[in-house]
Amino acid sequence: MNETASLRARAEIDLAALRANVRVLRERAAGAQLMAVVKSDGYGHGAVPCARAARAAGATWLGTATPHEALALRAAGLDGRIMCWLWTPGGPWREAIEADIDVSAGGMWALREIVVAAEAAGRPARVQLKADTGLGRGGCQPADWPELVGAARDAERAGHLRITGLWSHFACADEPGHPSIAAQLAVYRDLVAYAEKEGVDPEVRHLANSPATLTIPEAHFDLVRTGIAMYGISPAPELGTSAELGLRPVMTLAAAVALVKDAPAGHGVSYGHHYTTPADTTLGLIPVGYADGVPRHASGSGPVLVGGKVRTVAGRIAMDQFVVDLGGDRPEAGAEAVLFGPGDRGEPTAQDWAEAAGTIAYEIVTRIGARVPRVYVNETADEVTGGVPR
Ligand SMILES: *Cc1c(COP(=O)(O)O)cnc(C)c1O
Repeated sequence: MNETASLRARAEIDLAALRANVRVLRERAAGAQLMAVVKSDGYGHGAVPCARAARAAGATWLGTATPHEALALRAAGLDGRIMCWLWTPGGPWREAIEADIDVSAGGMWALREIVVAAEAAGRPARVQLKADTGLGRGGCQPADWPELVGAARDAERAGHLRITGLWSHFACADEPGHPSIAAQLAVYRDLVAYAEKEGVDPEVRHLANSPATLTIPEAHFDLVRTGIAMYGISPAPELGTSAELGLRPVMTLAAAVALVKDAPAGHGVSYGHHYTTPADTTLGLIPVGYADGVPRHASGSGPVLVGGKVRTVAGRIAMDQFVVDLGGDRPEAGAEAVLFGPGDRGEPTAQDWAEAAGTIAYEIVTRIGARVPRVYVNETADEVTGGVPR
């Protein structure tokens, strides 16, 4: 029995699987560099250990959404290239420039703040210009691109910044053949050509997320930005299962059964009595709930492996716990209940929970709460402690 067996719940993070996934993705995008996207605490897996493991497997870039996430990676000792893209006015531009982080500008306000911060820092910023090639979310509209590129080139000539990248993001890369894919590629190529004609000489041009890395080779350019696939989860079931894509899910969410008891036929179960025992049975109490990120929308439908059988959540998922009908089985209190994992021990997957909750597997892993300890397995000492003894 290992030291974690007594935990109420745990999210086991298999860093060997993560490293293997990074290698598979690098092969799929041979010729391009790989950015390991570790935003939102590494999609719930722990940003720093995952960043270290991804680096060990050859990821030359790390990517985050917010600057605070990027600064936290630096503070943890991660060196090399780090980029972040989700800025708001007054953000920590100067700190990011001083920490040698690539920042992103998708509008004129950002460029103006970058120039002021670079002057204060006394060194040029590394700036990646973001275009909206059709997603309709962040980034500069094509009509405004000449103004942004012109201002960035002026600032580059004045020594305030270096334009290190030109980039954009797909809307429908997870729907192969969607007409927006070819349209976005064409707009992206035009915008890159325009910037290069204006004298921009970027280190990296990039457009591909996980689904594009797996299915759109012409979108790989110099760099692919992989998040979900690195965590071993298929970006969309239509693209294939994890196994079909050569990926292995990194997170296993398990809990210790808290109580097993007899209940007579006709017994209401959990808040609202949305489940009633159909016969004399046994009930198992699973001590995780929506505060731990188990989606309440999967009440009555989420699957759990207990005592070798997949059971379904009986009634409502509460804040801290839910119940399964064990149909007369009597596992010991303390027995392991596996909500999801790679699937090869018969346990459900994050994709199964996504279907039960009416969402996507990205959300299932990312929402696992801070109350669930992350337990790293197959890690090297450096990945978890950064080389510092625990
Ligand atoms: C989250 C994110 C990614 C990674 O997307 P996946 O589908 O998880 O690979 C890539 N690029 C940007 C801009 C993102 O926000």
